[in-house]
Amino acid sequence: MNNYIPYGKHYISNDDIDAVITALKSEYITQGKFVPLFERAIAEKVDSSFAVAVNSATSALHISCLALGLKQGDIAWTSPNTFVASANCAKYCGADIDFVDIDPSNGLMCPNELEKKLQKANKENRLPKILIVVHLCGTSCEMDKIYKLSKKYNFLIIEDASHAIGASFDSQSIGNCRYSSITVFSFHPVKIITTGEGGVATTNDKRLAMRMASFRSHGVTKAQSLLQKNTTAPWYYEQQSLGFNYRLTDIQAALGISQLKRLDAILSERNRLFTNYQNLLLDLPVDLLQSPKRSKSSFHLAIIRLRNRSSSFHQMVFEYLRTKGIGVQLHYLPVHLHPYYRKLGFKEGDFPEAERYATNAISLPIYPGLKDAEQMKVIDVLTKGIDRYK
Ligand SMILES: *Cc1c(COP(=O)(O)O)cnc(C)c1O
Repeated sequence: MNNYIPYGKHYISNDDIDAVITALKSEYITQGKFVPLFERAIAEKVDSSFAVAVNSATSALHISCLALGLKQGDIAWTSPNTFVASANCAKYCGADIDFVDIDPSNGLMCPNELEKKLQKANKENRLPKILIVVHLCGTSCEMDKIYKLSKKYNFLIIEDASHAIGASFDSQSIGNCRYSSITVFSFHPVKIITTGEGGVATTNDKRLAMRMASFRSHGVTKAQSLLQKNTTAPWYYEQQSLGFNYRLTDIQAALGISQLKRLDAILSERNRLFTNYQNLLLDLPVDLLQSPKRSKSSFHLAIIRLRNRSSSFHQMVFEYLRTKGIGVQLHYLPVHLHPYYRKLGFKEGDFPEAERYATNAISLPIYPGLKDAEQMKVIDVLTKGIDRYK
C-alpha cells in the first residue's frame, strides 16, 4: 500500500549503511570486534557496568532469568499488558508465571496491586523469585516503590525496557540497574533503535554478566581462569552449563553502534511528535497515556484510550483507521488471555484493568520520519471515525 502509515518504522541513514558495509568487509562478521564495541557503547549510554548483546530481547530475557537462577518450582510475575516474551522467558526456565494488574491511567504495573498480591502470596508461601517489570511506551514504572517491595518480600527484579532505551526515572537512566538486577532492551526494527533483530542485557553485577555471556554461547568458555581442568593445551575449552547460540553478529552490532549515535536526536523527534499529538487530540473524546512527572519517556508508543467504553465502538474505530491506511495497533492483548496461557489456568476476569484497557486502547503512528501532514491525517481520520460510530 502506497500511503499506508504504519504505527512504527525503522530509520536507516547513509551512515548506518556505511557502518554495515565496513563490518561486512572486516575480517570477522561474527565474534569480531563490533559486538564488544557495541556493548561498551550501550553500557556507557545507559550508565551500567556491563552489557551483554544477544540476537533478541527475548533471548536477553531468557538468559537474564537463567543467570538469576530461575528454575522449575520457582515463580515469576510480570504485567499482563506486555508482549508475550516478558512472560514466556519464565516458562522457558520451567518456572510458573503470574501477573500483576495495571494502573489504568498509564498502562503500567500498579505498585498498589503488586503490594496487595505480595501480601497474599506471602501468607500462602507463594512469593515470586523474580518480578519482570515492563516500561510500556518507554515510560518507567515506579521503580523506587517496587524496589522497596523487593527488599521487603525478597524477590529479584528484571526490567523489560524493550521500549525504553534513552528513557529515565528521577533523572537516572533506564538500564543503570539502580533498582534491578538486570535491564533488557530490544533492537527489533519497530523499537527506538535497531540492529534488524537484537537485544541487550545490562547489569552492574560482574558475575551475572559472565553467566549471561556464557549462556549466550553454548555455556562454553575458553578463559584460562574459569577452566575446571588444569591445562595449558591451546585447543582446550569447556562447556560448563547448557547454553544456546544467542549471539548477535558483528554486522548487526555495527548497525547498532551507528544507530546509537543518533539516539538523542531520535528521542527528541519522538518527543516532538508526541507533543503534537497532545495538542491535536485536545478536543477529541480520547485520553493519551501520560508519563508521570518523574519519568522521562522515550515515547516508543503513542497510546490513546477511547472514552466511549463500548468494545464494539473500539473495533469499529480501529477498523476504520486501518481501512483508511492508518496502521494502528493494540499494545497489548492481555498476555493471560492467549490460548497458551488459558491452558495454564488463566481466564477472563483475572486482571480486569488490563482487560478493560484492551477494549479501548489504540496505538497511533509515531516514529522519526513521520511527517506533520501524516500526523494531521491520522487525527483527521480518527476524528471522522469517532464521529461516524459514536
Ligand atoms: C519487542 C518486545 C520484546 C521482544 O523483543 P525482541 O527483540 O523482538 O525479542 C519483549 N518485551 C517487550 C515489552 C517488547 O515490546
